[in-house]
Amino acid sequence: MYKISLITGDGIGPELSESAVSVLNIIHDKLDLKFDITKLSAGDKALSETGKALPDETVSAIKNSDVCLKAPVGESAADVIVVLRRMLDLYANVRPAKSYPHMPALRDDIDMVIVRENTEDLYTGHEFSLGDAAVALRIISKKASTRIAKYAFETAKQRDSMRKVTCVHKSNVMRLTDGLFAKSCADVAKEYPDVIFEEMYVDACAMNLIRQPEQFDVIVTTNLFGDILSDESSQVVGGLGMAPAANIGDNFALFEPVHGAAFDIAGQNIANPSSFLLSIKMMLDWLGNKHNDSKCIEVGQKLESTIFNLVKTGVKTKDIGGDMGTVEFTKQITNNL
Ligand code: ATP
Repeated sequence: MYKISLITGDGIGPELSESAVSVLNIIHDKLDLKFDITKLSAGDKALSETGKALPDETVSAIKNSDVCLKAPVGESAADVIVVLRRMLDLYANVRPAKSYPHMPALRDDIDMVIVRENTEDLYTGHEFSLGDAAVALRIISKKASTRIAKYAFETAKQRDSMRKVTCVHKSNVMRLTDGLFAKSCADVAKEYPDVIFEEMYVDACAMNLIRQPEQFDVIVTTNLFGDILSDESSQVVGGLGMAPAANIGDNFALFEPVHGAAFDIAGQNIANPSSFLLSIKMMLDWLGNKHNDSKCIEVGQKLESTIFNLVKTGVKTKDIGGDMGTVEFTKQITNNL
């Protein structure tokens, strides 16, 4: 029995959480993989109700669980996810961009992953006013850069692909901070002679993700660049509705969609739950590897292929060219599982 803490979120978060719970319940009842789910509040609603975007009870319930699933939260995201990533030392943000069939996408042959450093850079929130200026501190350490580089190389080694790591930075301008990041990655590369290593400036990478995305396998980059490039790469393969993500530490992990709370489509039963359900697939892989539980891996593959097969037959939500509602699409998935 795995204890899952589930942050239900804001905007489309509650609808995606309903979908996730339906799918987890079917896995529990029919596929005999047991879960105990605790729903938790965090985000804008929690802030207005309790005065805290990340209530203490939510933090202790997460710490008490085996793994956390997080639906998107709204304006208070920085006070929830950025805090959790640092508090739980979830240093690797893993964002795959994988083509699925019959998508309104730029490309249908892409399988890459962005490994984004998750604890430093401009996202530490160290900002202050100085005279008439506003200043933000950009913190990059050798320890965190080396750690994320190792994670990226290990990922490349395990992937059934071209085994290549592209380190993305802007060291020609930010010589100290990105210089340190690039050097740390290059040092780690020496320990992995079987993995191809290259460096690319972030502006060139943004262009190449559109021009020639097939050249990428694993991209390793700093926090802000990774955030931006992963929204872009998701668009190359089918949009945010199909984009899952993992936040991984040495002992704990949290899974969430790449996208935000999407208030423009909230409460209309049109959000695509695939981003969150594919995050569950990533969660099952992580649990399976951590607990040596092949059943988790098997069920994760089944979930992914169920989504894949539905989309292939044209059963899709509006964002990817179909006409299914969130609830109806979820029902198709639970039936097929
Ligand atoms: P954030 O800054 O928190 O990442 P954002 O305001 O940039 O959020 P998102 O919420 O990430 O925007 O989404 C951008 C747009 O993409 C939304 O306005 C919505 O139209 C679309 N979108 C995002 N997620 C989904 C989804 N699961 N299904 C369908 N459309 C989505």
